Amino acid sequence: MVITRFAPSPTGYLHIGGLRTALYSYLWARKNGGKFLLRIEDTDLKRNSIEAAKAIEEAFEWVGLEHDGEITYQSKRFDIYKSYIQKLLDEDKAYYCYMTKEELDKLRESQMKAKQRPRYDGRYRDFKGTPPEGVKPVVRIKAPTNETITFDDGIKGEISVNTDDVMDDFIIARSDGTPTYNFVVAIDDHDMSVTDIIRGDDHLSNTPKQIVIYKALGFDIPRFYHIPMILNPSGKKLSKRDGAMDVMEYKKEGYLPEALLNFLVRLGWSHGDQEIFSLQEMIELFDPKDINKSASAYNAEKLLWLNSYYIKEASYERVIKELKYFDVDLSSIDKKEILIDSLRERAKTLKEMAQKTKNILDRPKNYDEKAVKKFLKNDAKEIAEKFLIYLQEYKGKLRTPLEFEEALKDFMEKNSLKLKNIAQIIRISIVGTAVSPSIYDIMAVVGKDELITRIKNLINFMEVNNE
Ligand code: GLU
Repeated sequence: MVITRFAPSPTGYLHIGGLRTALYSYLWARKNGGKFLLRIEDTDLKRNSIEAAKAIEEAFEWVGLEHDGEITYQSKRFDIYKSYIQKLLDEDKAYYCYMTKEELDKLRESQMKAKQRPRYDGRYRDFKGTPPEGVKPVVRIKAPTNETITFDDGIKGEISVNTDDVMDDFIIARSDGTPTYNFVVAIDDHDMSVTDIIRGDDHLSNTPKQIVIYKALGFDIPRFYHIPMILNPSGKKLSKRDGAMDVMEYKKEGYLPEALLNFLVRLGWSHGDQEIFSLQEMIELFDPKDINKSASAYNAEKLLWLNSYYIKEASYERVIKELKYFDVDLSSIDKKEILIDSLRERAKTLKEMAQKTKNILDRPKNYDEKAVKKFLKNDAKEIAEKFLIYLQEYKGKLRTPLEFEEALKDFMEKNSLKLKNIAQIIRISIVGTAVSPSIYDIMAVVGKDELITRIKNLINFMEVNNE
């Protein structure tokens, strides 16, 4: 059974790097019919842990990842950590260290002077005497000396380090009794029966220490997969400045969750040159052995491209549902399908689509200055008035884009006009600017009566404006 976990620290939101780690862990568990667990690493930041868990669950729900079972909170497991620390003390695999901060600083200073790497010198490792008074001890693990630790990372390959180079007898419990980071991670992964740890390669240097703890407690060592970071286009670590970091920001910006997941899965993993993956396909095809060995760069254009792809693919019901989030309710709009198809032709985000929908459905409150200057001159008012009368007197059916197109053609013929003489007038009357989808589509969407009103409004505006 493959058991993976996602173990975020509670920052109050789920960032996209975290979501990618979670996605890979999720896919690997699901592919193997295993379990995907969630653990909140809140030993330091207890205050925020409930909100953080909520934020993560909200983001998971939005993108459609489900974790198995209850969430594990580290802050609720202190007694368990304590008992493991006691076990190590009892077995003489850990010990109390009474070194004061001043002593530690002094040691560090002298090591620096001698150009040595600062490290604890093991002075209490075999201490049998009377402890100094008034010092609350920390607990240190007896790390193996001059021992090679080797593990086969699922992405990086074989990693081999000498304990002398990467650790000293590191602290597993602070003087107030609280356990330290590497200790609790090792305990939790064991207690949660995690078999496969997929995490960012910024944790690579922690792994040998965690292995020391596994070994001291006789735990099975899980498989590790350290995934390269996501970099910004200039090759630096991704930061807030490079784009939204909070996953839910992407919802607010009008991205579809399947576009974001598709974007993230490809950011560091590939399957041939395939670009489009449904979640089901990802589950079938994902294998950590195909994760890139080098870091990948965040590419905002690619995300937009994927998003427009998924917007085009979505059913009408889906688009209507998604647009509700942006306060656009198309459910009772006649010709909503025409509107959706017309807008998604070019829309890159739902937010943009929602804005354009509003521009069409709501009467313009004002008219774009540049458009007015450029297109509403000379005989524009006269043409608008003629078209208004033509519409008012029109006897035929006027509902579909094609019917509007035919009517307009007929009008142009009768008045010896060309499309360029009238298209922008109609467009400005409907949306207030010189940009919109096809005028036939938007005329059909607003309908004959509303079109008449909007043309009247524009004529009024031109009258006032010309005085
Ligand atoms: N809590 C760590 C983090 O948010 C992850 C620890 C792990 O995956 O082992 O970076």
